[in-house]
Amino acid sequence: MLHLPTHIPIDAAWLPLAMRDEAVGRRYRVRFSAPEKKSLIKKAYVRPSEWSERHIHLPSDAPIPGRWRNINMPHVAGILDASFHPSVREIMCCWVPQSAKTAMALCAIGYAEDRYPGNFLCIYPDIKTSKETITDRLVPMFKESPRLRTYLTGYEDDVSSARIKLTHRKIYVGWASSIASMAAKSLPYAILDEECKYEWSNKETTPPNLVRKRLRRFLHMSKLWRLTSPAMESDLFWSDFCDECDAIYDYFVCCPECGAFQVMEFGDKKSVHGIKWEGGKQVDPKVIEKNHELSWYVCARCHAHWDDALRDRAARAGQWRERESGMAIEAHLKHFNPRVIGSQMPAWPVVGVPLAQSVAQFIRGQRNLDELKDFQNGFAARPWKPPQRERKVAEILSLSDERPEGKVPGGGRVAALTFGVDTQGDDATGDLWYVIRAWGWGIDPDSWLIRSGKVTSMSALFAVLWQSEYRDAEGNIYPVRFGVQDAMGHRTDEVYNFAVLNRGFIMPSQGKDELAQLYAFSDLEFFPGSKKAIPGGLKMARINTTYFKNRLARKLGVKPGDPGAMYFHADYPESYAAHLTVEEVDDKGHWKNPKDRENHLWDCEVLATVAYEILGVKYWPAPQAVTQTSNEEPQQIIAAQSSYLTGGRR
Ligand SMILES: [Zn+2]
Repeated sequence: MLHLPTHIPIDAAWLPLAMRDEAVGRRYRVRFSAPEKKSLIKKAYVRPSEWSERHIHLPSDAPIPGRWRNINMPHVAGILDASFHPSVREIMCCWVPQSAKTAMALCAIGYAEDRYPGNFLCIYPDIKTSKETITDRLVPMFKESPRLRTYLTGYEDDVSSARIKLTHRKIYVGWASSIASMAAKSLPYAILDEECKYEWSNKETTPPNLVRKRLRRFLHMSKLWRLTSPAMESDLFWSDFCDECDAIYDYFVCCPECGAFQVMEFGDKKSVHGIKWEGGKQVDPKVIEKNHELSWYVCARCHAHWDDALRDRAARAGQWRERESGMAIEAHLKHFNPRVIGSQMPAWPVVGVPLAQSVAQFIRGQRNLDELKDFQNGFAARPWKPPQRERKVAEILSLSDERPEGKVPGGGRVAALTFGVDTQGDDATGDLWYVIRAWGWGIDPDSWLIRSGKVTSMSALFAVLWQSEYRDAEGNIYPVRFGVQDAMGHRTDEVYNFAVLNRGFIMPSQGKDELAQLYAFSDLEFFPGSKKAIPGGLKMARINTTYFKNRLARKLGVKPGDPGAMYFHADYPESYAAHLTVEEVDDKGHWKNPKDRENHLWDCEVLATVAYEILGVKYWPAPQAVTQTSNEEPQQIIAAQSSYLTGGRR
């Protein structure tokens, strides 16, 4: 290092006006303070992983306390180094729990604070975790690492539960719902830890987007780490992981016997390699967990059996490689300069995690869906998609009976006809889809589709509902008693008017994903968007669509002939049956139409069921003739009871 005084010519224009004349031609001696000198020394490049081994000391309550050693968590080094590759801006890690995500974040913070300028932002799922991290992980790490300790100011005030003020910069710590309040802070580094556990109320934007705004002024050098264990397939993290990554890296381990690099796979019955164990799916998972020799890994190339110790050796000799090209991570970064990189880390190549744990959880998962979810998220590093029982068009068509459309089943089996109407389109030319369904007697009756389709005007709807006669084979007429019409979004005025004109026979409705009751009523006094009063007021039904759609899906699964089945008339069109198959349950348990295909008759069936509930048909006493088992000429009795006015009711 140069310590001799050196003359540096300085342009006088740099000096304040008052000093210029006096300063010209003179020599001044300037001394730099120790911290100034320190920050002026150009540091030789050290890999982040190497730097961490030299300088990071993890606090005593970390999973592996003391000096950071790459050999303890060999998979961390590759991604930590890649994070600081000049082209990389976002680092997405989809790693299982206990795979040193937080330790990697700490190493990254330490390295950046020591080597690069700029403040840091760390976001945790909730206020408790964020406070714990700052007091139990971050501050102790700075105190226990000799190099980092020099950056602490020593003032107690400089360490709070929301930030650490270092001699040269700040580390802010927050939690998911507090990001919005940090709008003013502009900084180059941010970590989102356990992102899949975030809950946020802001519907307009997401935590990663909020954080990206903080990084905006440092686009040439910013780093955003998104570290998480996976949760649901529909999570933002997973969709970004699949769509946004320029490169995804997998951890290849190296067989200690034959030297073959491979991605460890859990494998299945058919595969020769993978994780194997004694006793198949019937074995008690506790036995597997207790006796580690009962499970092992089989090398994909030489078929050598690895126990936990050999697996650890294989992992320590491992490296990250790019998923598509198979290139080693360093070469890949150099050649392709990716901007967003992803990595996925299951539990089986993690040093120190017994293979037996993965096996035991897999076996539990074969018996219980919650355990299977835990296996997917916590061991396989894969997101969970709730299994759906897919309804097929053919299954719906198999519920058709012999009746032609419009014909009501006879024999006194029918208690009432209800309907549902789905309103489409924003003007009077839109379609009105309808379903008319007949319901049997009792608590869990059979039901029969009488007529369905679409009309284009309210008058046509009126004709279908109340100017058409629906008869059974004996000629008894069944009136359409009551129905519910979707009033939300489209043609609301028209729907209200129609409901006022046919008060007592039809009720407007609004669907809700969540509602405490099955349905509830609201009073409407005005037409929407105006002060025009609704003559006589109107009741509107708010409907728990989650409940009714679950019920409809269950009902459609009842085999024809079993009690409580839903029947369709003969020649029910395939295109109509398709409406009943498109909706799926999302992870919140709400019904969604993911591909946005036609689902009108599905909604109509829901509304017809709601009408059945509101009408309280299940509480109607069944006529004697139907309930008695002797079945003495029931048709005659029913014929006498049925009339247009009573609709088959006594
Ligand atoms: Zn091998």
